[in-house]
Amino acid sequence: MIIKSAEFVISNTDYQKCPPSAKPEFAFIGRSNVGKSSLINMLVQRKDLAKVSGTPGKTQTINHFLINNAWHLVDLPGYGFARVSQEARWNFGRMIEEYLQNRPQLFCTFVLIDSRHEVQKIDLDFINWMGIKQLPVAVLLTKTDKLKNSELAKSCKSIEQTLLNHWEDLPPIFITSAVKKSGRDKVLDFIQTAIDSQKNV
Ligand code: GDP
Repeated sequence: MIIKSAEFVISNTDYQKCPPSAKPEFAFIGRSNVGKSSLINMLVQRKDLAKVSGTPGKTQTINHFLINNAWHLVDLPGYGFARVSQEARWNFGRMIEEYLQNRPQLFCTFVLIDSRHEVQKIDLDFINWMGIKQLPVAVLLTKTDKLKNSELAKSCKSIEQTLLNHWEDLPPIFITSAVKKSGRDKVLDFIQTAIDSQKNV
């Protein structure tokens, strides 16, 4: 997929105010600081479409971007940050859950996991919740430039094993680095294939 255009559409805290468009959506979610903004900017080849922030938990809205006038990229708030109150955190949870369950045009949610760490409980809880709700997920490993090949292989195996402890089948897993710009083609091909398969129905 060639990115011809990428524009910000709207930020919301209420799923009902998301764009009234049936265009396919692909959402990105993960713990704060996982590298989500950097990855989104890398995918769409824009320096600052998504804000790379030094403040965990700063993006607390559902952000829609229109790509190639064909599909929406949705930047969801980071989960699991410590600096907001319990009540606020619960609200972000509800906001995200409502969005995920009420957007039939949502084709897939990419769950970002830092390749240097084990799958955290909150990631697993989220993936399991998506599974129960029968919402499609793909796992995207970030910051893989920080690992040697052997370490990355070990990390991938461990993440796969953790997921297989809960699920019969593995979701698609993408290995990415915003620094090395790797994994971009595979993620964009996956998105394109999902869009095309819908068109063919
Ligand atoms: P977000 O909070 O999930 O949106 O994460 P950011 O994109 O703001 O990134 C958090 C920190 O990780 C920043 O200091 C980034 O420069 C760094 N980072 C993000 N992606 C990568 C990557 O692929 N490789 C490396 N080495 N650092 C990264």
